[in-house]
Amino acid sequence: MGLFQGPRIASMRKLLTYSRNVFVPVTDVCKNRCLYCGFRRDDGRVIRRQEAIDLLDRGARAGCTEALFSLGEAPWEVPGFSGRLKDAGIDDLIEYLIELSMLALEKGLLPHTNAGLLSKEEMRRLAPYNASMGLMLETTAEVEAHRSSPGKDPLLRLEAMAAAGELSIPFTTGILVGIGETREDRIRSIEAIKKIHATCGTIQEVIVQPFDPKDETAMAAIPPPRMETLVETVSMARSILPAEVAVQVPPNLADPLPLVEAGASDLGGISPVTPDWINPGRLWPTPEVLRSRLPGFQMVERLAVYPRFIDLGWHGSETRELVERLAGPDGLRRRDDSEISDRNRK
Ligand code: SF4
Repeated sequence: MGLFQGPRIASMRKLLTYSRNVFVPVTDVCKNRCLYCGFRRDDGRVIRRQEAIDLLDRGARAGCTEALFSLGEAPWEVPGFSGRLKDAGIDDLIEYLIELSMLALEKGLLPHTNAGLLSKEEMRRLAPYNASMGLMLETTAEVEAHRSSPGKDPLLRLEAMAAAGELSIPFTTGILVGIGETREDRIRSIEAIKKIHATCGTIQEVIVQPFDPKDETAMAAIPPPRMETLVETVSMARSILPAEVAVQVPPNLADPLPLVEAGASDLGGISPVTPDWINPGRLWPTPEVLRSRLPGFQMVERLAVYPRFIDLGWHGSETRELVERLAGPDGLRRRDDSEISDRNRK
């Protein structure tokens, strides 16, 4: 299989990747209280099996290849959470994530779990069932937005990323722009990610995510970062990180054209069936709309694991058979497969 190292010229057009996913919000219970968060709920719940199965089925029918399992951080540390788990018929949340991942694999979807801070042992248990995993660094700075979020301690997050590296887990991380950090903080954050990657080589992509104000949060009146700031951050990230690490921008939160022109090469997960549960008011543009907005770029689907890591065999052992089925010779999604799904959806 040929190595894919990020953007490259194909028919004179720069390649932009994205993943067609179904977003499964496993629980919105979280031990942190980030001042910008609209996802966490005091009376949060755990997704029921049947509800998760229905979402996965919808994703599979819509031609998705990725199941994104997302949850609040260390919900088991929140008083009363074990009772909520029992009500849902679940003994252990990590076991439940494994069970949901196995269901996803059966339905042809590659799991990518973003569970916040996990211990190395918890990651070791989840790794065989995941094509890749993720944890946002957000920032290495101490910001007011994180004053009630012990899990956002940058040292803890960098340690977790290093532990994932020791386990050879293909990893997604990123920074959040506009939460009170400075330009120098953003450079330091990207440098910190670069350092982790230099040690373990497991970072597949770095998201440059703009803060998006939510009603009824403490930061509702704070404006989102300006486009100039985002463009400069993408450009800095592209020049600081090695070429093999993609820079990702979410096209539902900012106009992607100036950002891909600044060096971003990935548009992240785009779901035809579920909202972005972290930013539910921000609808994903369809790939067709994005294609029309991004002249000069060729959009192609990738899997939840990047081609380089398929070559290395670092994705979860239980995901191998499905990755083999879904990946084409270049390690991206097999084209005839996505073309068939496109036809089925019409
Ligand atoms: S942003 Fe994430 S970590 Fe922070 S409160 Fe919300 S769910 Fe928890």
